Amino acid sequence: MATVKNWQLDREMEYPYEGNRPKRQITMFFDLNKCIACQTCTMACKTTWTSGKGQEAVFWNNVESKPYGFYPLAWDVKVLDLLGSQPWSGSVYKGKTIFEDVSFDEKVRGYLPDEMDYTSPNLGEDEASQIQTTEGDYIKGPVHKSWGFYLPRICNHCTYPGCLAACPRKAIYKRQDDGIVLIDQSKCRGYRECVKACPYKKAFYNNTTRVSEKCISCYPKIEAGEMSQCVTNCIGRIRIQAFKTTDLTKIRKNNVADFLIHVRKIALPLYPQFGTEPNNYYIPPIHVDPAYLTQMFGPGVENAIKQYRNAGKDKELLAALILFGNTEKISDTFKYDAKTDEAVSYDEKGKEIVRVPCTEPIYIRKVLNAKSGAFLTNNT
Ligand code: SF4
Ligand code: SF4
Repeated sequence: MATVKNWQLDREMEYPYEGNRPKRQITMFFDLNKCIACQTCTMACKTTWTSGKGQEAVFWNNVESKPYGFYPLAWDVKVLDLLGSQPWSGSVYKGKTIFEDVSFDEKVRGYLPDEMDYTSPNLGEDEASQIQTTEGDYIKGPVHKSWGFYLPRICNHCTYPGCLAACPRKAIYKRQDDGIVLIDQSKCRGYRECVKACPYKKAFYNNTTRVSEKCISCYPKIEAGEMSQCVTNCIGRIRIQAFKTTDLTKIRKNNVADFLIHVRKIALPLYPQFGTEPNNYYIPPIHVDPAYLTQMFGPGVENAIKQYRNAGKDKELLAALILFGNTEKISDTFKYDAKTDEAVSYDEKGKEIVRVPCTEPIYIRKVLNAKSGAFLTNNT
């Protein structure tokens, strides 16, 4: 075992290989306050990449209802159970990761889902927490007693992938140019060690081809400077992709990824305690019980919620959030243009990609339409 730095845990940890951060890392962001579980992302991915034989129950992108929806069944509850207690002391994780909580004969702590676990994606859909209500109950803010939210998930293209660490054939690799994690299917023999080791259950076994497969981050699009299918097809405009700076001493305030992760710290990794340093980042839903969210996204939840609630006054943050879903091109830098009240994004050559107004105009229509004589009030 080597010792590597995991900044999400604010400490060093054990990993089977030496640290090898890529030159650039593609990251995906999800604003969970906006997801409507339309599953357009799921179908955009499925029709592009996994419509073949043996892939019937395979969803590289899935959207599950929390707290009771899962794909595969109970995946996160099982991994959290395996790890046991997961205490944090401030920003430092004091528990064990999946690479540290291992027995003598394994490299990564994990479990192999049953085939049936994949056949009812999102069982428990739309079941809210604390659904028992008493007479006279009503929804009060800012945190709701009864809550639910939607969690879209793809492979995290982790910095320390569990799948890669466990593969006995060394068939899994992480690309230096963009950090995308891929399986070389000509080397894979279908031992399913990656399926067992991935704590997010985003490596899949295809029982027709008898090899494993996983999300490829739509790499032909990323190579062309465009965002992945699940991002560009998102109806709720909850997603954006950008390259983050991998050298933490060179963080750029005007890069969307660095800004959201390191400057405002509003976008958080999913289950950082697993230890893989995942590269998808989530803006937590502001109406949900913070204790549940802290288990899911780590100790930065309360700050992230505070930042989000203040976004209307924080124009720079608003500009970064407004860019979600407004362009297919990957932006390198962005700014808030105070003169025009617009969010502007630029590519690596400094060329402007898109301008989006930060304040939408509001039109209030007259109650009586004089032309038709109709009253336009909503009286339902
Ligand atoms: S397309 Fe967007 S809004 Fe719809 S389920 Fe997927 S992430 Fe959520
Ligand atoms: S999410 Fe799972 S499949 Fe994806 S890189 Fe991380 S460990 Fe591997």
